[in-house]
Amino acid sequence: MKWALIGASDIAATRLIPAMRELGHEVYGVMSSNADRAKSYAAKNGIPNFTVSLDEAVNWPVDAVYISTTNELHARQAIAAARAKKHVLCEKPLALDIATAKNMVEISVECGIVFATNHHLRCAGTHRKIREIVSTGEIGTVYSARINHAVSLPDRLRGWRLDSAEKGAGVVLDIVVHDVDTIRAALGADIVEATSLVSSQSLGKNGIEDSSMCLFRMSNGALVSTHESFLVPHGVTSFEINGSAGSIIATNIMGQDPVGEIRVRTDTSDHIIEPDDRENLYVYSLRKFEAATKGNGSPAADGEDGIASLSSAVAILESARQKKTIDVVALTNGAK
Ligand code: NDP
Repeated sequence: MKWALIGASDIAATRLIPAMRELGHEVYGVMSSNADRAKSYAAKNGIPNFTVSLDEAVNWPVDAVYISTTNELHARQAIAAARAKKHVLCEKPLALDIATAKNMVEISVECGIVFATNHHLRCAGTHRKIREIVSTGEIGTVYSARINHAVSLPDRLRGWRLDSAEKGAGVVLDIVVHDVDTIRAALGADIVEATSLVSSQSLGKNGIEDSSMCLFRMSNGALVSTHESFLVPHGVTSFEINGSAGSIIATNIMGQDPVGEIRVRTDTSDHIIEPDDRENLYVYSLRKFEAATKGNGSPAADGEDGIASLSSAVAILESARQKKTIDVVALTNGAK
């Protein structure tokens, strides 16, 4: 596959470009809003073409575009790419509001392209194994789950994420979207209600939240609690699912690398389960995406998944603002 990168970003340089090359894909060119950055990013990452023109980038002779600009730009860029008949892999959150995300996905359907959301966690062998354990019924009826996704925001990323509401800053749009996607994928259920407390305790500026604690009710009745933070350098991430016949207790599986441990406890056993593979999460995501562009299956997370994760994140922000529980289904359906 040939790719155009929209956005001279950290995530493209550190994760997606290496993953594309591992699969033998070609990174044809990069678009930045700044000519000097476009040129230096292209040189540093061995990319032959660069531009500041969105129109030029989406009309390059490529199969797909990967969008990893700041969040407020994703929609316009994704729509331009779809209209140029390029498949789109878009970073999360798809947009800053639900109506815009729905519009992006609708246009991608009209244009007949594959649209995917880059929710990497569900691509991990650990998370796929958890989905398998839940879906085989080994732990019975799932009543509850907990995600601890409190980490320390790396120094190099302490920019717009902490101070720019216009660009979609804050831990909710950054991490809650991933946690929502993770729980939806693991349980095969949707989020129907959301409530939260958020705070701006240290790194967040201009009232931008750097920590959140969220509660969700799922369409299968399960209750879920999640904790997201940019302020926890020494914690251990975890994902716990409790069912009538057993519990899954997974640690260190909420990051970007294929690491961590899954423990399953039932009446008759208490053991560590090894996932079937520990493939690079982004390589898995790209392989599924490439197959989907060739008519084989769906991307790991599609546009509807991106709308769903954004809807719940918006509900969490609304809940914190209004100090009440939000009906996520009504919020999503009402967004036009
Ligand atoms: P970056 O801050 O690295 O890049 C975002 C934009 O900031 C770039 O498009 C670039 O604009 C601009 N920029 C980058 N470096 C500089 C600089 N030195 N000076 C001025 N501007 C600069 O963001 P991330 O890579 O962390 O995130 C990008 C997107 O990817 C976000 O939507 C984020 O949510 C998502 N993301 C997803 C992850 C995942 O695992 N799925 C993980 C991390 C991020 P321009 O392109 O115009 O040059």
